[in-house]
Amino acid sequence: MAASRRRKKLGQHFLIDPQVIDNIVTLIDPQANQTIIEIGPGLGALTHHLLDANAQLHAVEIDSNLVRKLQHKYSADALTLHHGDALEFDFSAVTSTNGKLRIVGNLPYSISTPLLLRLAEYSAIIEDMCFMVQYEVAARLTAECGSTNYSRLTVNVARKFSTESIFEVEPDAFSPPPEVRSSIIVMHPKPQTSIDPVHETVFSDLVRMAFGNRRKTLRNSLRSITDEAMFQKAGIDAGLRAQNLSIKDFSALAECIISNASNKKENQLGTYD
Ligand code: SAM
Repeated sequence: MAASRRRKKLGQHFLIDPQVIDNIVTLIDPQANQTIIEIGPGLGALTHHLLDANAQLHAVEIDSNLVRKLQHKYSADALTLHHGDALEFDFSAVTSTNGKLRIVGNLPYSISTPLLLRLAEYSAIIEDMCFMVQYEVAARLTAECGSTNYSRLTVNVARKFSTESIFEVEPDAFSPPPEVRSSIIVMHPKPQTSIDPVHETVFSDLVRMAFGNRRKTLRNSLRSITDEAMFQKAGIDAGLRAQNLSIKDFSALAECIISNASNKKENQLGTYD
C-alpha cells in the first residue's frame, strides 16, 4: 500500500498546535502514581508530556515505522510500547498499583466507534478516559434519548460511562489537517452493579436490532425476539422507535426476553416430568 494511503487509513493526523497539546495535557493532568495507556502515540505529541509527569506510561501503536521512531526516542524504562492493534489489545493485562487504568489518546477516526464499544467491556478497571474524536462521534456519545444523534453507540457506551464534551479542535491543529472537526471528550465509568453475562448479550443484540432500522417501530424491528406481552410487561409502547428508548427501557426489555426464554425452557422440561 502506498505510504500516503496507509497514513490515511491509519488516521495519521498529527497534533502540531502547542496550545491544543497543552490544553489536552492539562485536562488529563497525569500524576506519578497513575498507570496511563495512550492509544496511537504517533510521533509522540502527547506522549512526551505524559512522560514528564513520571506516570507508568504504556502506548499502543499499530504502525511499525512509528514504533521504531518512538523506541529510538524514549527508553523502554520510561515508556512501555505495545506494537499492535488497539482493537485487539488486552487492557486487563496491564497492571497498575490501584487496579485502575487511565486511557487517553488522539484516536484514529476509523477505530473510535469500535474501540469505544470495546472499552465499555473494561469499564470496571478504568478510572477515566480522555480522547480526541471526530465531532460527530462526540455528539453521538452525548446525545439525549429521542434526538437524531441518539444511536447504538450512545446506548452501549452511556450504559457504562458518562461522557462530557470539553472543547473542539479545528483541523489546522493537525498535520496533515483532517477534513472534519474534532472534539475532546472525558469519560468516567458509571457505578455498576454486577451485570449478568446473559443480560449483556441480550442487551447488546436488542440494541443492535432496534437501531438496525431506525425508521421501523420496535414491534417490527424486534419481531423475531419479542411479542406484545413482553412490551407490556416492560411498560414500553411497541409503536415507538429505537431512539425513544432509554437505557433503562432497553434493560427492562432485555430482562423480559430472558425471563420469557427461561419460562419456555421450564415449561418444555415440565412436559417430561
Ligand atoms: N497521538 C498522535 C498525535 O496526537 O499527534 C497521533 C494521533 S493520530 C490521529 C492516530 C495514531 O493512531 C497514529 O499514530 C496511527 O498510526 C495510530 N493507529 C491507527 N490505527 C491504530 C490501531 N488500530 N491501533 C493502534 N494505533 C493505531
